[in-house]
Amino acid sequence: MSVPFNKVVLAGREFDYIRQSIDDSIAGNGRFTQLCQASLEQRFAPARVLLTTSCTTALEMSALLTSIGPGDEVIMPSFTFTSTANAFVLRGAVPVFVDIRPDTQNIDEALIEAAITPRTRAICVVHYAGVACEMDATLDIASRHGLAVIEDAAQAIGSTYRGKALGTFGNLAALSFHETKNIVAGEGGALIINDLALAERAEIIWEKGTNRVAFKRGMVDKYTWVDIGSSFLPSDITAAFLYSQLESMDAIIADRRRIWDRYQAGLARLEASGQLQRPVIPPHCEGNGHIYYILLENLDARRHWAKELAAAGVDAFMHYVPLHSSPAGRRLGRTAGPMPVTDATSDRLLRLPLFPGLTDAQVDHVVDALDTIARRT
Ligand SMILES: *Cc1c(COP(=O)(O)O)cnc(C)c1O
Repeated sequence: MSVPFNKVVLAGREFDYIRQSIDDSIAGNGRFTQLCQASLEQRFAPARVLLTTSCTTALEMSALLTSIGPGDEVIMPSFTFTSTANAFVLRGAVPVFVDIRPDTQNIDEALIEAAITPRTRAICVVHYAGVACEMDATLDIASRHGLAVIEDAAQAIGSTYRGKALGTFGNLAALSFHETKNIVAGEGGALIINDLALAERAEIIWEKGTNRVAFKRGMVDKYTWVDIGSSFLPSDITAAFLYSQLESMDAIIADRRRIWDRYQAGLARLEASGQLQRPVIPPHCEGNGHIYYILLENLDARRHWAKELAAAGVDAFMHYVPLHSSPAGRRLGRTAGPMPVTDATSDRLLRLPLFPGLTDAQVDHVVDALDTIARRT
């Protein structure tokens, strides 16, 4: 049996909606863009939501909207994708990397305060694997120090913290609809604007620095250049594909949780015997089945288990090279302190196959393969 790592699964109406968008208008901010935004605004109420070409560009919009500039510092984890840092580096800011927690692999909120300097302007949290960062503590620190909070919620659609949707906690939050995420559109993202005072400027930045959104709504009689901005809005073809996915979001996430739960139950024995560690979802958090990972003893063990899994037909992959140890991260950022958990997690973490429709038999095959490797190791 072979088990691929990821597969794009259609919800069913993608082609139909793309056809409709071609018959109507395929430029940005068309009918399907409006439908997607309305659907997301319902989930993230009372936020304003704008579709973007990616989570990367939604983060870039966040950096513009929080007026982060040269020499400013933004606190973030190092165990994340490059876009978390690039968005701020593009504005001349310095990413300040903080170590992560060993249970959720999320930024260690207990280390944030010590990383604050007079130049700190924002905290950008990343909800790794769709499991929440400790938002109560983070928001408390931010409000005491007057800092903006931005959620890189690329992996977090459908997850909650204390019963509230991730993406609703920061001043701004960024979602991804890249083909590797829970809800997909090839390339795509969304900016969630929880601080509604930023909404009007967000619409202008989104539409190349013009007031075209207000014009479309009939609020001004001509549109013109009013601020800086760029082309952050996707084609309505992308939105058409995405709308079909959003309609099936609850079913897609429920199916991913089924698979996540089956791995978690199936691997309890190996954890009890000390051969691997399973992921932790704190009791006040609800996951979205985005990533299932295991932690092995060290880098050599991770390489060995990945190789043995491949021999059993199972694709399994590491995740991030920590940004603080990457060539650009060394040059453009700095660490707030030692990074032992980040370094160890990067060495030890192995992601297992997870996509909607992965069968129970396939999950059991992966679990059996891990059992076999454990017995031989
Ligand atoms: C996927 C991802 C991104 C980038 O998303 P794109 O939509 O591909 O730009 C940013 N941050 C994190 C944590 C991600 O997982």
